[in-house]
Amino acid sequence: MQVRHILRDKGREVVTILSDATLSEAACLLASKRIGAVVVRERDGSLAGILSERDIVRALAQASVNALPQAVARYMTRAVATCCDDDSVDELMEMMTRGRFRHVPVVDEGRLTGIVSIGDVVKTRIAETVQEAQSLREYIAAG
Ligand code: AMP
Repeated sequence: MQVRHILRDKGREVVTILSDATLSEAACLLASKRIGAVVVRERDGSLAGILSERDIVRALAQASVNALPQAVARYMTRAVATCCDDDSVDELMEMMTRGRFRHVPVVDEGRLTGIVSIGDVVKTRIAETVQEAQSLREYIAAG
């Protein structure tokens, strides 16, 4: 199973925010879209970083409510690990485990074409396991 199979089911919409938006705006966006991370863009459209709910919690722990009017750029992660359509779900799981993050943007020839979360990976894994069990049951029943 590859990243493209996950995106075929979930779609390729990616929620983004500008790097000079405030942390408060980012929190509202995460809440309204019911997501855990947002890809951060510069005004020219290039990828600037990623901001997750964990970054917001860390900012609040450091600066309390004073963090809320600060720019997203101040708290986002700049070195974003990305994947592509051809990467396997196993490779993605390894990347997330090693990097200790739960979101990976999908990039194709420099263009943002999707995002995969740990929830998407787990859902895919469970579907694969159910399918395998069903095939085994059918094989045994036929024998
Ligand atoms: P998450 O587990 O995705 O909520 O993120 C945990 C931490 O990793 C936060 O500091 C994020 O900014 C950062 N992070 C999330 N996704 C990525 C990624 N794909 N590459 C690098 N850092 C990330």
